[in-house]
Amino acid sequence: MEQIRMVDLKNQYLKIKKEIDEAIESVIQETDFIRGNAVKVFEKNLAQYLGVKYVISCANGTDALQIALMSLDLKPHDEIICPSFSFISGAEMAGLLNLRPVFVDVDYDNFNTTIENITQAISVKTRVIMPVHLFGQGTDMEKIMAIAKQYNITVIEDNAQSLGAEYRFSDGTVKKLGTIGNIGCTSFFPSKNLGCFGDGGALFTNDEKLAEKMRLIANHGMKEKYNNERIGINSRLDTLQAVVLNVKLRYLDSYISARRKVADIYYENLKDLKEYIILPKRESYSDHTFHQFTLKVLNGKRDELKLYLADKGIPSSVYYPKPLHLQQAFIHIERQGNNMEVSEQLSKEVLSLPMHTELDLEQQMYMIETIKEFFTKTK
Ligand SMILES: *Cc1c(COP(=O)(O)O)cnc(C)c1O
Repeated sequence: MEQIRMVDLKNQYLKIKKEIDEAIESVIQETDFIRGNAVKVFEKNLAQYLGVKYVISCANGTDALQIALMSLDLKPHDEIICPSFSFISGAEMAGLLNLRPVFVDVDYDNFNTTIENITQAISVKTRVIMPVHLFGQGTDMEKIMAIAKQYNITVIEDNAQSLGAEYRFSDGTVKKLGTIGNIGCTSFFPSKNLGCFGDGGALFTNDEKLAEKMRLIANHGMKEKYNNERIGINSRLDTLQAVVLNVKLRYLDSYISARRKVADIYYENLKDLKEYIILPKRESYSDHTFHQFTLKVLNGKRDELKLYLADKGIPSSVYYPKPLHLQQAFIHIERQGNNMEVSEQLSKEVLSLPMHTELDLEQQMYMIETIKEFFTKTK
């Protein structure tokens, strides 16, 4: 049996090696490294895939969130509602821009924030709601869009983990996650659903004015060379990354179905361990792309299970061991949106199992048997 990895980018690459190598070689031949034609082509291809009018590429997912926030011309201490159980980027960029992240709790079953938590946290200073579609599944966007409209608040979706997933509205309309809010942001970090060979990111919107502004900000505030209309940043997707992404975008749906197949096997074979673990909940309003397959391990056994698996050659990860409202970086934030019990509990219970496009049945059955063995032994 081949060694089990959390992600296996090598074997994924080998399957499309020829296409990728040729694409990379062509950029080198043309020394077309910055703002090459492939970048524009990729933006167009991704816009078409997502069914959104504008895609603006940039250097990474964190920059995408920063550019999105900068494009709104907010005032110091304006409030940005962010889930506490998440990766730091969105709240961090709010802090960097002298805005105030207001943390809200998440739902125990699906790890995403809820309309109830958001509603409680809204104040006269709230300007942005920034839901994070965690682990591959969408936040309940229909409700968030309704409340945002009521209070005239902008919605920025952090879709770094759920690119390609679809959201179903109650009237049957289906949209890709990241295209529902005013702005969507994503990351092409190698391990994401659509990963490049380094760093990359993008913003999506249907709003022409915002698109123009975000493009300006990502390029030193310039439309024409050496005419700086405003303070911006330097955030570009390399042409080398764009050609890799142009190849891999064609496989994104097949990558997602490969992840779903892996998830189905986990669901089917771990379902009898209800006393010990809770499997991820699948909501009816959103697809799950299984960026992560995240268990909740009950009875305080998480760390023990993690060690046991490691001992048997099975890696696993804790996303996230400390909620954002407890991070030293945010210790000065005085206002919290609500009580953060669920985020705190999740940080003690969650365990993500290996999940990627290249896992085979033998590896998965070995992991499943080892998990079962742990719970029989420690009963
Ligand atoms: C990966 C990730 C980001 C940041 O992406 P980078 O490209 O690494 O900057 C932001 N938010 C979430 C939820 C992520 O998972």
